[in-house]
Amino acid sequence: MLLEAIYHRPGQSYCYSYDEHTIHIRLRAKKNDLHTVSVLYGDKYDWDHTASVTELYKLASDEWFDYWQAEVAPLHLRLRYAFQLTDNEQSIWYTEKGFVKDKPHNPLTFFDFPFLWANEVLQPPAWVKDAVFYQIFPDRFANGDPSNDPESVRPWEASSPGPHDFYGGDLQGVLERLDYMSELGINAIYFTPLFAAKTNHKYDTTDYMKVDPQFGNTELLKSVVKACHDRGIRVMLDAVFNHCGYWFAPFQDVLVHGERSRYRDWFHIQSFPLTCAPRPSYHCFAFESHMPKLNTVHTEVRQYLLDVAQYWIRECDIDGWRLDVANEVDHEFWREFRKACKSLKPDFYILGEIWHDAMPWLQGDQFDAVMNYPVTEAILDFYAKNLINAEQFASQVNKLLADYPQQVNEATFTILGSHDTPRLLTVTQDERKMKLAVLFQFSFLGAPCIYYGDEIGMTGGEDPDCRKPMIWDVSQQNRSLYSFYQQLITMRTSKRALQAGAYRIIYAKKQQLVVERKHDHEQVFICFNNSEEAITFTVAGLKIASELCMLLGNGAFKQENDQLIISLPAYGWSLLHN
Ligand code: CA
Repeated sequence: MLLEAIYHRPGQSYCYSYDEHTIHIRLRAKKNDLHTVSVLYGDKYDWDHTASVTELYKLASDEWFDYWQAEVAPLHLRLRYAFQLTDNEQSIWYTEKGFVKDKPHNPLTFFDFPFLWANEVLQPPAWVKDAVFYQIFPDRFANGDPSNDPESVRPWEASSPGPHDFYGGDLQGVLERLDYMSELGINAIYFTPLFAAKTNHKYDTTDYMKVDPQFGNTELLKSVVKACHDRGIRVMLDAVFNHCGYWFAPFQDVLVHGERSRYRDWFHIQSFPLTCAPRPSYHCFAFESHMPKLNTVHTEVRQYLLDVAQYWIRECDIDGWRLDVANEVDHEFWREFRKACKSLKPDFYILGEIWHDAMPWLQGDQFDAVMNYPVTEAILDFYAKNLINAEQFASQVNKLLADYPQQVNEATFTILGSHDTPRLLTVTQDERKMKLAVLFQFSFLGAPCIYYGDEIGMTGGEDPDCRKPMIWDVSQQNRSLYSFYQQLITMRTSKRALQAGAYRIIYAKKQQLVVERKHDHEQVFICFNNSEEAITFTVAGLKIASELCMLLGNGAFKQENDQLIISLPAYGWSLLHN
């Protein structure tokens, strides 16, 4: 037994409350090292009557480690616990004081979970599990009102956008295309910023309280949200609170009045007078002088942004904020932000843009979830770029699952491309490979998000090329790809196992992968052949509740006792269901 590899520490993803009654306990050990792991637990004030033992199961494995998990529901909401670890040769106990040979008797030496406070449980809104998002970049989605077009607007068909071009897309266009989105089947929209700003992407806000006149006005946004809600579609907006735009009035005041400006402390100014080049004399988003960083610890700034957050919930009844550059804003601000939003709408979704390990923001007091960039990267590396094989892919995904509490994974937000990255079809260069990536995205936990136009086969490299105007001419759309998306969305929004089921990669060898989703008696197997060779492979050791049928896909399968024999053509896939 490799004791050095064994790890547990209460809190974070190793011992946390999952809901008001349940605590999840995890332990990490060297891969394939332990035969069994069990946990001895009880109440510290009544050990003799409450002590009990539960076995952990292998939640996931990555390249180096196995992650074991147990779920317990202590009557008095308190836990003392120690692990018993067994391999071929020995059995050993693991407590907060370290490893001991004999069963420890003094619970004082055990790990401790002091009390399960219901108000401290991270409970992301339940609807996110069932959500399929559609990302809209408003200037490029649909132009429903030529009267609000910016000057020098480019013709919609001109498909080579420059970085500063405008195409005239707006909220009226979105309103008129809701039928399209309903037919596709999505049930949530994520808008990149809608508020007044100078650029076409609007990440340089000049007025947080105003819809950009190129897109419409508050009344129109209200109508869009209402029309969405009538169709069962939720709406998430982009909150750009890390920084404002150069033309934001308080920043302009500092430019004019310098050190005498009453807004001087709203920003992070290093020296007066303000200079923009070669590097700005104030902190910015990156070093972008037109995006000055806001000082969110300043009371007035904080109050202003909290008012903004609440204003759009109250005024337009939006359902979520996606937080831009979320990890560069102070934690205390996000704590107050959470309270402000949830006090108005308890099932409001708070989604952070964080590219790295986001555990510090996911402990119940700040975000519900983060954008799952590490999974995006793994999906693209495996399905699109052939940089890793199925085992490596499974390792990466499993490590991510083990890194976060289960409810975080269940509310995660998975994209395969956005306004910041080349389009999926351009990256994969092959519609079959693109479909495999999308199928994985839709079989994964949390909410998948489709970048507008991917579903009809739009292409585009790095931005601005990935921001071409939406193709509305049906003869120019890839309708078979659209049908594929439509079928997956129908599947996703109708099968409980795909929304709320337990998630397990049960097979990962060479270029073949099988995922199982299971909820109560419902079982779904999603099978992938990410190779140009047709193949037949066997997945053994399964527990299959009843006879399976193929819901979607190609190839064939045979079910024999605890085995599945799966045949798939080149880049084939299938979705089996009981
Ligand atoms: Ca317009």
